[in-house]
Amino acid sequence: MSKVVKFGGSSLADAKQFKKVADIIHADPERRYVVPSAPGKRFKEDTKVTDMLYRCYDEVAVQGLDFEKSFAPIKERFNGIIAELGIELSLDEEFAKIGENFKAAIGSDYAASRGEYLNGIVLAKYLGFEFIDAAKAIFFDNKGNFDDAITDACLGALLDKTPMAVIPGFYGAMPDGTIKTFSRGGSDFTGSVVAKAAKVSLYENWTDVSGFLVADPRIVENPEGISVITYSELRELSYMGAGVLHEDAIFPVRSANIPINIKNTNAPQDAGTLIVPTQGAPASEHIITGIAGKKNFSVISIEKDRMNSNKGFLRRLLQVLENHDIFPEHMPTGIDTVSVVVNSAELDGQREKLTERLVEVVKPDHFEIIDGLALIAVVGRGMRSVKGTATRVFAALSHANINIRMIDQGSSELNIIVGIESADFEKAIKVIYNMFMLSE
Ligand code: ASP
Repeated sequence: MSKVVKFGGSSLADAKQFKKVADIIHADPERRYVVPSAPGKRFKEDTKVTDMLYRCYDEVAVQGLDFEKSFAPIKERFNGIIAELGIELSLDEEFAKIGENFKAAIGSDYAASRGEYLNGIVLAKYLGFEFIDAAKAIFFDNKGNFDDAITDACLGALLDKTPMAVIPGFYGAMPDGTIKTFSRGGSDFTGSVVAKAAKVSLYENWTDVSGFLVADPRIVENPEGISVITYSELRELSYMGAGVLHEDAIFPVRSANIPINIKNTNAPQDAGTLIVPTQGAPASEHIITGIAGKKNFSVISIEKDRMNSNKGFLRRLLQVLENHDIFPEHMPTGIDTVSVVVNSAELDGQREKLTERLVEVVKPDHFEIIDGLALIAVVGRGMRSVKGTATRVFAALSHANINIRMIDQGSSELNIIVGIESADFEKAIKVIYNMFMLSE
């Protein structure tokens, strides 16, 4: 049995944090594969090393400023960590190579990836683990998409013969060897890729919170934590804005049925949140698992007599939206009406054109774009077996005098989504939370 442990930037922001990380790893011999982020913020106003690298690269490769001067604060952060940990290590050769590459304008992905790369070297040395450069083990195809098959084979073979290793997060290599990064926060994804390739029993994702909360703590005071959540529930919640884990991170482990445990480096005794496969998940403690939501949606509302018997109507409507690069989020339909909920930002700069085209192609009897909608997702695997969940959501909102503008229940009965005025957003989350979490 072995585990992959991924540590986020705040968990490795300075030598003090490195020590906590080493204690966590040494406390469990199953923690054999370590995926680090670059050093993150040490305090609120601090800058993440990744952001420092992007800036330095811009200064050197684009503006032609002096590398030594621009790179000095980054060098200082790594040298500071090394000195405080008391390890015998010099990164001078690495720094020099980075300087040459920056001056040759090798690319901003390479630049950003150096935070994880250098941090991986330091951590491997400190732990006494092998260092595996992600450029030699994690691959993209020619189109720049992550190449699952080649990575699985190469990384799997490498890990098979390496009992304990540090593999830096966030980047890999293109077929020609060029460094490419995942999107921001992508070390979570690397952790998942390593977990799958190493066929481990658990992917521990260490961060600075003790897992997911039922609702956003900026809205609900002291919300309860989520102890177990399924991959599908998490997809629903993270799509609706619940942060903590990179959006794509669940895919590799999900396909291999490996659970993820979100843990807190600063409170390792806390159980955190366990993310498990949907099949065989334990019954939930409460009917709902979480509530999340987002503001800034618009409804494209269309009325047309006998819409339902008008062949190809929805297809034509969707085609117009597709041609304008608009992704429908929800599409509740009636007999003579359809409402398409879209992200308001997607309408920017093309409202008039879109309206013109829709009127021309769809010929609605009435057409309107209504802004200022917020969507709230009430998510829980417990809903399926319990009657009256929707009633309770609606009762909570109606008692609070909140008007519901749209209702959508996912076909898997895993979520109920309501659309309300943006101004009611915070109040709605609070009353739904109270209805389910305080009265059960
Ligand atoms: N260091 C990268 C970022 O700041 C990747 C990560 O931390 O996961 O986005």
